[in-house]
Amino acid sequence: MGDKTGIQWTEATWNPVAGCTVVSPGCTNCYAMKDAARIVRMGGKGAKKYVGLTRDSKGGPVWTGDIRIADDDTFAMPLRWRRPRGIFVNSMSDLFHTDVPFVVAARVWWVIGQCAGFLDPSRTRGHRFQILTKRSARMAEFLAGWANTEIRRGWIENLYEQGRGEVFDWMNGPAYWPDVFPNLTIGFSAENQERFDARWADLRHLAGTGWTIMVSVEPCLGSIRLPPDFLALGHRGWVIVGGESGPKARLMPEHCVLPILHQCRDAGVPFYLKQLGTAMAAVLGLRHPKGGEPAEWPEDLRVREFPGMAR
Ligand code: SF4
Repeated sequence: MGDKTGIQWTEATWNPVAGCTVVSPGCTNCYAMKDAARIVRMGGKGAKKYVGLTRDSKGGPVWTGDIRIADDDTFAMPLRWRRPRGIFVNSMSDLFHTDVPFVVAARVWWVIGQCAGFLDPSRTRGHRFQILTKRSARMAEFLAGWANTEIRRGWIENLYEQGRGEVFDWMNGPAYWPDVFPNLTIGFSAENQERFDARWADLRHLAGTGWTIMVSVEPCLGSIRLPPDFLALGHRGWVIVGGESGPKARLMPEHCVLPILHQCRDAGVPFYLKQLGTAMAAVLGLRHPKGGEPAEWPEDLRVREFPGMAR
């Protein structure tokens, strides 16, 4: 976790929460649970946070279901980072896991809001935060609470009572901040059409609210027809596609990528192909083990766009 990441579509990761449970077929080879076990095996400073979050099984490490909320120092990380960067929030968990209280998500929103300069312009950091979930219904519930002044105040007061108030200021505090943050892209992961449809059903009402909304189709396990109201997001949408990586990676069906790319192109939605995946890299004999080197792809697949920059 921290100032460097191998995830090509972002620049840093920030993990206020660690630990998770599998929730859908896209989780089967969850990289985070393997990574958590690897960090513990390596020992050292970073290991403590992940001890007890995974256990060994015949098929390798699996989540125990325990969730750990990070220390204050971790929560403050983005405020310490002076150079503006893309920050993927919770690469080692799901912020909207049922065992993560909404007050923790409110604390994450609080840090992101401070980085937007809402509390104190001198604390503005030019970061761009990205939050993905597979628990879209809970994300929707949190956002509805955040948009409700009374509920939001309750969460913020709770933080204040816990001594997490820091530079709390009622007049400029989070209770008065906008519902939609300009420095935050929210969204969901969807491995196939069924999961896309279910998760978009939870979040589609946000399309007209001003949020930039991303979907990560990784691991891509089937083709996806993007619905008109998602495509209508245009440059406020973002689609990332990736084949699975790792020793047990499932093959990304060959016919998936181009149709998604074409749908995005036609609608002006930014598209980002992250990687073809370990299995396809082996089939094609690519040098990059995850098929993540665009120079090795057919030319029409070499598309790596970010929100606001679709052709
Ligand atoms: S939701 Fe994400 S972090 Fe949690 S098990 Fe699934 S892939 Fe892993």
